[in-house]
Amino acid sequence: MKTQRSSRLRGFSTRAIHEGYDPGSHHGSLNPPVYLNATYSFDSIAQGQSRFAGETPGYVYARVGNPTQAVLEQRLASLEGGEAALAVASGIGAITALIWSFVRSGDEIVADKTLYGCTFSFLGQGLSRFGVTVRFVDLTVLEELAAAITPATQFVFFETPTNPNMRVIDIAAVAKIAHDQGARVIVDNTYGTPWLQRPIELGADFVVHSMTKYLSGHGDLLAGAVIGLAEDLLAVRTVGLKDMTGAVLSAFDSFLLLRGIKTLELRMARHCDNALALARQLEGHPAVGSIYYPGLQSHPQFALASRQMTAFGGMIALELAGGYEAGVRFMDSVKLAQRAVSLGDAETLVQHPASMTHNNYTEEEREAHGISFGLVRISVGLENLEDLSADILQALDLAHNA
Ligand SMILES: *Cc1c(COP(=O)(O)O)cnc(C)c1O
Repeated sequence: MKTQRSSRLRGFSTRAIHEGYDPGSHHGSLNPPVYLNATYSFDSIAQGQSRFAGETPGYVYARVGNPTQAVLEQRLASLEGGEAALAVASGIGAITALIWSFVRSGDEIVADKTLYGCTFSFLGQGLSRFGVTVRFVDLTVLEELAAAITPATQFVFFETPTNPNMRVIDIAAVAKIAHDQGARVIVDNTYGTPWLQRPIELGADFVVHSMTKYLSGHGDLLAGAVIGLAEDLLAVRTVGLKDMTGAVLSAFDSFLLLRGIKTLELRMARHCDNALALARQLEGHPAVGSIYYPGLQSHPQFALASRQMTAFGGMIALELAGGYEAGVRFMDSVKLAQRAVSLGDAETLVQHPASMTHNNYTEEEREAHGISFGLVRISVGLENLEDLSADILQALDLAHNA
């Protein structure tokens, strides 16, 4: 297996701010220009022909690429320690473009049992209509992976930490078992971001992102990305994106992402500090039955998370002692935090996975996949901790004493 480029060239934020762009070649313009165009003109038919044939570099049509998007892609590849990246219109666009590029009827996929709702639908309901077998297992138990993987397994797919219940999966250990069987590993690194963990450096073959979340960081766009080897990414661009999904990212959204990513490290550090402090305050609170945050020593994979991640992320899941009713009261009582799905924004967001992001699971599936009806998810924002924790604690008190 080819090794992908080490990301340890310059510091993380230095690359997040400078990689892939030289103002000197753009009239000194500090920010990359936004190229608003659908098509590109050729000097001659011969030039057009060789570009279409992939014999000379250059753009042909914006479904396949755009110079603003190309800066973003180079930056993403550097931050994730991959050879190449592709930016697309949404996280689901990234996951589907990648998988459609490689799977055939008769192939198998092994996936972790806890996935973002629409990823679960695509794998479990979508792909099965085309003769692809998907097995959902608990990837925190490596024996389950070893038992489910076969010579027909094309991909092993998982998130870590998982959405919404914060299980942590050992990327290096899963990659080893998968590679021994000739399967490739896809990690959805939306919760982690490349600042917290770089799956490719741990052995994964592909990273996918919903850039809608932390990479954008401002809740103002939808976007996704795939990072991996250059030759694989060429296939994802020319098959999965160009022909099978058409999930093209706009130049303007590429620009907004470049802007958001400049502050990724600063934002992630604050998200993580706020979340760890809040998780410590909530643990042991009488209204809280269980809390799932990988930075708490009570978390079953605390040791793994400490080893695998720079810090523990900005997401907390709670099971209130009063069950579903208390959860609803809690969510209806927050004043500063917003009741909304999505995550990774400056604003703290609370949501109820069973009725919102994971409503496409049946009750039995939710049970089996560890997404209980009483689970509440908090995307901890960038507000001042005192204000944020005062809001969460007053809502918990109301939920508990009703
Ligand atoms: C939101 C999300 C997705 C889907 O991304 P979109 O940008 O909404 O298409 C996929 N995986 C995870 C972990 C997510 O949180």
